[in-house]
Amino acid sequence: AKHEGKATYHFFEPALDEAARRRRQMELDLRAAIKDGGFTLNFQPLYNLAERRLTGFEALIRWNHPVRGRINPAEFIPLAEETGLIIPIGEWVMREACRLASKWPSDVTVAVNVSAKQFAAGGIASTVMSALSSSGLPAHRLELEITESIFIADVETTLTTLHSLRNIGVRIALDDFGTGYSSLSYLRSFPFDKVKIDRSFIEDLGTSTSGHAMIRAITMLAEALGMETLAEGVEDVAQFEVLEREGCQNIQGYLFSRPVEADAVFGLLREGAGY
Ligand code: C2E
Ligand code: CA
Ligand code: CA
Ligand code: CA
Repeated sequence: AKHEGKATYHFFEPALDEAARRRRQMELDLRAAIKDGGFTLNFQPLYNLAERRLTGFEALIRWNHPVRGRINPAEFIPLAEETGLIIPIGEWVMREACRLASKWPSDVTVAVNVSAKQFAAGGIASTVMSALSSSGLPAHRLELEITESIFIADVETTLTTLHSLRNIGVRIALDDFGTGYSSLSYLRSFPFDKVKIDRSFIEDLGTSTSGHAMIRAITMLAEALGMETLAEGVEDVAQFEVLEREGCQNIQGYLFSRPVEADAVFGLLREGAGY
């Protein structure tokens, strides 16, 4: 048994070291990227079904790593949140998204993802206001996408911040709706402008009939509360048709367009809705 314990120790230890080493390296690389401008924003169109119109774009961060090439956010946002680097990264995203969107037509909005850590740190309202004033983007063209995890911290402070952002005209969307533990109760606590129905519900549409019922229930509830709905991750026409039939107002997904580089936004705007 003694032997086994020792063998186990020797077997796992180098692996742990390797994981920790990679993490540390990634943190150093993230710090360098913040300093040297190693990030870019991609934009994915949001469509309004009734208006048959492209109404805005969601800003999605990309990291151009000097060695590893393009790294998607799922790989580095969690580490950025753990290390606090999400604060400077989030400030950059806000400034850059507003700057680029200020060059778009005046009826096109930009949606920016805001991490719970940015809310907890307290500076989000001033970050937003300074990004708006330096870009000249009107507040009503900015939408913040938050997840219910922002309520885990301090509900009162969070609500105060949301209300103050709302008061200057910024729109607030609840992202990944339906994936958390108490999504419904958060709908009651704050008047969101929009609810983004998580992709997992859209995936279900092809395979189960209860998927339709979920979409119908969410859109009816949102409507009763005066909130818009948007379905994320719409990939095929069958999903699209169900969503339209069940009264979902807005759509986002590969069916219409993948996220594109900032320059390609103008091409998508010229094409119109493209369906
Ligand atoms: P999210 O906010 O739920 O963003 C939607 C994700 O779904 C994006 O992945 C988008 O590219 C992807 N997507 C869109 N349409 C489809 C589709 O039809 N099918 C499939 N399979 N996927 C689709 P992405 O860009 O890799 O971003 C992943 C997550 O990283 C985001 O999820 C968001 O939570 C986070 N993120 C991205 N940009 C930022 C940012 O600037 N700040 C913060 N805090 N988080 C960000
Ligand atoms: Ca989002
Ligand atoms: Ca989402
Ligand atoms: Ca998500």
